[in-house]
Amino acid sequence: MIVKIPPEVDSILQILTENGFDACVVGGCVRDSLLGKKPKDWDVATSAVPQETKRVLSGFPVIDTGLKHGTVTVLTGALPVEVTTYRIDGTYSDGRRPDRVTFTRLLREDLSRRDFTINALAFRRAGELVDEFGGRDDLAARLVRCVGDPDRRFREDGLRVLRALRFSSVLDFSIESGTARGIHENRSMLDGIAKERIRAEFVRLLCGPGAQRVLRDYRDVAARFIPEIAASFDFPQNNPHHPYDVWEHTLKTVSAIEPDPVLRLAMFLHDLGKPYCYTESPDGTGHFYGHAVKSALLAEKVLRRLRFNRKTAETVTLLVRRHDLPLSADEKILRRRLNLLGETNLRRLLKIRAADTLGKSTADRERLVQIDGIRAALERILAERQCFSLRDLAVGGRDLISAGVPEGAEVGRTLGRLLRAVIDGECPNEKEKLLEYARLEKGGKNS
Ligand code: ATP
Ligand code: MG
Repeated sequence: MIVKIPPEVDSILQILTENGFDACVVGGCVRDSLLGKKPKDWDVATSAVPQETKRVLSGFPVIDTGLKHGTVTVLTGALPVEVTTYRIDGTYSDGRRPDRVTFTRLLREDLSRRDFTINALAFRRAGELVDEFGGRDDLAARLVRCVGDPDRRFREDGLRVLRALRFSSVLDFSIESGTARGIHENRSMLDGIAKERIRAEFVRLLCGPGAQRVLRDYRDVAARFIPEIAASFDFPQNNPHHPYDVWEHTLKTVSAIEPDPVLRLAMFLHDLGKPYCYTESPDGTGHFYGHAVKSALLAEKVLRRLRFNRKTAETVTLLVRRHDLPLSADEKILRRRLNLLGETNLRRLLKIRAADTLGKSTADRERLVQIDGIRAALERILAERQCFSLRDLAVGGRDLISAGVPEGAEVGRTLGRLLRAVIDGECPNEKEKLLEYARLEKGGKNS
């Protein structure tokens, strides 16, 4: 059998079928099974309307997830399973969702409303694959192709424009030529789509193995919801370290970093400000002084517009702002960087620097060896539990007060100075030595 239906899901199919309804698993789970991947979740579709589904599955807890759209969630064993009635989406007048959903008893009609042929596959528990639109061939050919006329399908629901790119990137599939044309021509349909939905698809696109290719081929589409990138397109850098224009460099760095949303977003946005900071020295060499700060300002705007959560937006913006921060294997400098960024973000910054290097001239590759050296020094500092934050300092506010520092702001200021002294190697992180240092410092100041 090509599709291994989990027992919980199979028992739902069995009950529906034994009660005279048609039922199957459909969409992503069939697609992923045929690709030899483990499906994330299993969607059941059936000719039973929700009331009928609830009646025959009354032995299980059932939640009314979206009755109007025909969806109930059945709680069986470990995984909740969505069971949706076969439906026909009526006319679309807003480019987002059907005006009205009607139920149908026919699987074929349900499959015909689905977006891409590879997502319009169904599988019945008897072992029958239902493939009305050539989805299996497209899987074999690694193609994203609309079910039906691409132009019509994209005008019905603009999100499909971006979903096509997401599937192309995540599965590393090409896009069939008619579908590709439909995507370019209907990119403005994305204007009417909720930013949250755009964000969700875009992040998945960005984290897919085909991100570089998709963003290169469909930059006009990405610029529809992130217009800030357009200034980077074909913007030459005129710099011996940079054989690529700003956009091409950006794409190379995106695919050079691991597929983690924060890291991929940081690479995607890290040089956004470059076109606004361009200067040339007399010999014609290009420079981009201050571009990291400008990029961070633009990144913040982009992330806010796409409704990223605050934590993600702040972290990505910080990494973009600091992507050029001088780093070295010198322990004193690294302790300062740890103090500024914290361990997690400093580790991220090292990955960003490696990816940035991979997007530059191959002559600069020895920089990767330096980055490895910096990482080794970082590991040593952390393994030795060296002090780089107030939390690690061997004295606290109470110790200072007992030693005669007046309560209030002076305590915080003194702690800050002591931490600086420890980070810079001017004082060991030992309580007596630190108190002594504080006394001497004070004495020095008074004399
Ligand atoms: P994954 O869960 O891995 O993202 P999936 O194919 O399950 O992939 P979902 O977004 O969960 O994607 O959608 C489930 C199914 O519903 C799809 O396979 C597709 O058949 C259909 N579908 C989802 N969104 C749309 C849409 N905007 N237009 C048409 N059909 C859609
Ligand atoms: Mg799914």
